[in-house]
Amino acid sequence: MYQDTLLHIAGRWRPAAAGATIPVINPATEEVVGAVAHATADDLGEAVAAAKGGFATWRKVSPYERSKVMRQAAALMREREETIARLMTIEQGKPLSEARGEVRSSADVIEWFAEEGRRAYGRVIPPRAEGVYQLSLREPVGPVAAFTPWNFPINQVVRKLSAALAAGCSIIVKAPEETPASASELIRAFIDAGTPAGVVNLAFGTPSEISQYLIAHPDIRKISFTGSTPVGKQLAALAGLHMKRATMELGGHAPAIVFGDADLESAVNVLSAAKFRNAGQVCVSPTRFLVQEQLFEPFVEEFVKKAQSLKVGDGLAEGTTMGPLANERRLHAMDALVADAVKSGAEVRTGGRRIGNKGYFFEPTVIVKPSQGSRVMNEEPFGPLAIMVPFKSFDDAIHEANRLPYGLAAYAYTGSTKTAAALGATIESGMVTINHMGLGLPETPFGGIKDSGMGSEGGSEGIEAYLQIKFVSQI
Ligand code: NAD
Repeated sequence: MYQDTLLHIAGRWRPAAAGATIPVINPATEEVVGAVAHATADDLGEAVAAAKGGFATWRKVSPYERSKVMRQAAALMREREETIARLMTIEQGKPLSEARGEVRSSADVIEWFAEEGRRAYGRVIPPRAEGVYQLSLREPVGPVAAFTPWNFPINQVVRKLSAALAAGCSIIVKAPEETPASASELIRAFIDAGTPAGVVNLAFGTPSEISQYLIAHPDIRKISFTGSTPVGKQLAALAGLHMKRATMELGGHAPAIVFGDADLESAVNVLSAAKFRNAGQVCVSPTRFLVQEQLFEPFVEEFVKKAQSLKVGDGLAEGTTMGPLANERRLHAMDALVADAVKSGAEVRTGGRRIGNKGYFFEPTVIVKPSQGSRVMNEEPFGPLAIMVPFKSFDDAIHEANRLPYGLAAYAYTGSTKTAAALGATIESGMVTINHMGLGLPETPFGGIKDSGMGSEGGSEGIEAYLQIKFVSQI
């Protein structure tokens, strides 16, 4: 069922002009399952020209009509859920249930932005002189270039695509080469729903070549990137050089602070599910578990039981609760982080090794008390590693939580409303969720601070990134 993925440029599905392709690997079997077209400068030039033409068309379509097309795209995603979810599991590895959930939630995101685009109001400012009309208008910023990673092949695209289209922008999506088919099905839903040619374009290739070409191109007016902090900094610098607006959703190393008065069962259930979802390859994954000393051992013990109860296997197989890592690079990264943690004095309470020698499977892993200087306490693990350290006081926990340059997501469990309020006020993080898992809804802001990025991709804030202000004064 897995088919090769094409580019979509100027309303046409087609191979790359030079005919090059990149193989796609199933991470559960290491087999090549297909190929994706590899765009070069000729294809990209055509994509930019298409997006320029698409923008001229789409900005004139009323928000009401845009919203209708977008809601049809959402309906198509729901209709095609099973087929698309299977493609995603084959190329990315996540369990089918998670892939289905990702397809369904993409439809919610599309619908939410479809409605939000109809509410992109301006303002009328009271004048100083009679008869003057002062208008603050919000206009679409122009053709957008979006760069998205492989961990959520659809979810990472849909937030950029939906916000851009709702605002009236056209877009070129540089989707992930490692997981191209499911991302391209999202684009297909928009095409089939009736977006005019040139409004939505899809490219794959060598990421650095595409970003250098598109960010520097004068017809591209806005950049949005999701990926690692080092790459994000390079792209943000390039965007600055060319005076392009940029949204950056980058890495994190989320603290999960569990206080002595927390509901242990709820904390373990919710945080372990969040930790091992998508085999931990999630930018908001809880990674540094800071547990108050009186609850430390019971928390570790219960968490280890959860880790050991996971069924790791091919995401297509019945009952699998954690799939393989998405690529071989992550396997090597896990091995290196675990070895370094052990060298720093940490104890591996469960897991810590690759499973078998076919497929990129890694054990759900719990590591306790690595030194503060160890790599795992400082680098985003991006895999199924839960790192646990005890703390004494509120101030100790906050100090550790805020120690790193990252500031994306933070989690906490406490029975005290006073502690909860103090956490919300002091944690340096773009998102904080306390006593439940409350991140990533279409209607709520999603984004980081410090080295975790700039801008927000959810909620009303999400559409702002694609709108520019124009002031008009008229008499
Ligand atoms: P990487 O840093 O090489 O790539 C990360 C993503 O950025 C990929 O999608 C890649 O295609 C893209 N990319 C890389 N260089 C680029 C460039 N010059 N221009 C445009 N796009 C570029 O690493 P990787 O091995 O793919 O992933 C490892 C790390 O990336 C993880 O440790 C994690 O920190 C980060 N990551 C973050 C997210 C996220 O959701 N924020 C998703 C995937 C990966």
